[in-house]
Order: sequence, then structure tokens, then C-alpha cells
Amino acid sequence: MACLMNSLKVPVQTLVKNLNLGTFSLGKCRMDASDPAALTRMFTLKKNGMDYVGQVRVRPGSPAVRIEVFNESYFEEFDQLEAVVLDNLTGKVLGRLLKDKDLPEEAKTLILEHIEDQEPVSEEEEVAPTIDDERNLDKIFERFNEEYFSNRIQARIMWGRDVKSRNKSGFRYGSYDEGKKLIRIHPRLKQDFVPLCVLELTVYHEMCHQFAPSYKKNGTWQSHHPEFKKKEREYKDFKDARNWEKHNWHRLLLPSEENSELVTA
Ligand SMILES: [Zn+2]
Repeated sequence: MACLMNSLKVPVQTLVKNLNLGTFSLGKCRMDASDPAALTRMFTLKKNGMDYVGQVRVRPGSPAVRIEVFNESYFEEFDQLEAVVLDNLTGKVLGRLLKDKDLPEEAKTLILEHIEDQEPVSEEEEVAPTIDDERNLDKIFERFNEEYFSNRIQARIMWGRDVKSRNKSGFRYGSYDEGKKLIRIHPRLKQDFVPLCVLELTVYHEMCHQFAPSYKKNGTWQSHHPEFKKKEREYKDFKDARNWEKHNWHRLLLPSEENSELVTA
């Protein structure tokens, strides 16, 4: 569900791509005198009438970019995982920094390298859906289409491709490409330790994106808007699946044996 670089790419619906992070303002640049490539900038976020303060630091090393929000309560404004919110925020902050004419070249290079490293799982190629069991995506899709959507969802569904990702702060369960009407599901959800309801909710969630399309409000894409959420909660095991995700999402960060072979092969 995690995804990055909101402001750098054409909007594509994913689980979390378009979180409404609040009104964002970037503060003045503070350079680190000892290192010309290092910089720190404070920022503020205004959300639901509250003000929050954070900072972004860029410097050579790993990680090259560090983003913090000082008020923990900011994350309580979301019903997404903190890591997911932070990923979203990172995309926003870096996108804004890159637009800044005064951004030092060294810092710009570090940011661009960082973004490349964090590139979410590439899902360009299909992994043939050979699983002929309860995790067969077509079967889940067809069943849900009938059960929840009166067969009105028209989309293709496939497993995405697993690649080694250095992004350790979130996991992207699935995505929906509105233009292609294509749902991609992360292949790590094939693993036995992932409850079936978690895979099902991912499929269901992406179907909801077609059912309740994103819209732009005050210049920001709203994809998980109230209508969307209402529909999403209709899935019968919604609470169980979300609860599992909340406590186990980090187990999905490592490529599964099967899929890492696919990548290196
Ligand atoms: Zn979504």
C-alpha cells in the first residue's frame, strides 16, 4: 500500500498514493556549514485545523534523506500506517524541495539518488497467474464482482512483479491503473503466512477504486475519500485483514524465496 513520489509522477491510484497530508509549507533553507551537500529545512503541515511541524534533512550517507514530524499526533489523523503516511509525506516534501530554485546542486543530486533507491516495486511485467487455488486472482475478482459490485467492475487483474526494493518503510499491497483498467497485486501476498483475507482485501480495495473513483479537491487527489472507505468496509473480513496488516506488514518487506528467484533469474 505504500507508494512514493506523489508530486513527481502522474497520479495513479494505489492504496495510499493520494493521502491528504494537509496544507504544506516549506521553511527557509538552513545549510550545514561543515558540509555543502547537507541541508535542513523545517516544514509545517496544517490538517483538520491543527498545526504540525517537521523537518527534512538531506546529507551524504545512508539514508540521505530523513523526514520527521515532531508531533506524533499528526499520524493519528490517518487510518493508514505511520510508515505509509511518512512515505507519502516524503514524496511531497522531496517534490517540493526539487522545485526550489535555490536548492544546492549537491543536495539535489542526493535527493534524486534517494528517490531512485526508493522507487516502489516495478510492476511492469506480469508474473503468470499459475496459482489454481484460493489465491487465484481471477477467481477472487469474479467472486467479488458478483458479490459486491453487481458485476459492474471491468478490469484486468494480475500479479505484479517482485523486485528487490530498498524501501524499508512501507509495503505496497496492490495498485490500480485507471487508464489501463489494470489491477496489480503484490506477489508476496501469495505466501502462505499471509491470510487469505489480506489478499482478498487487497483485491477488493483495488476494485473499490473503480467503483468510487478518485477526484481532485483543492488541488489534491482524493482517492480514499469517504465514499471509497464506506464501500471498502463492506468487505466481510475487513477488520481482521486490517488488523493483520497493522501487526504484520513488516513481514512483507523481504522478497519471498520464490519471488526473489524470479527476479534474479
Ligand atoms: Zn487505494
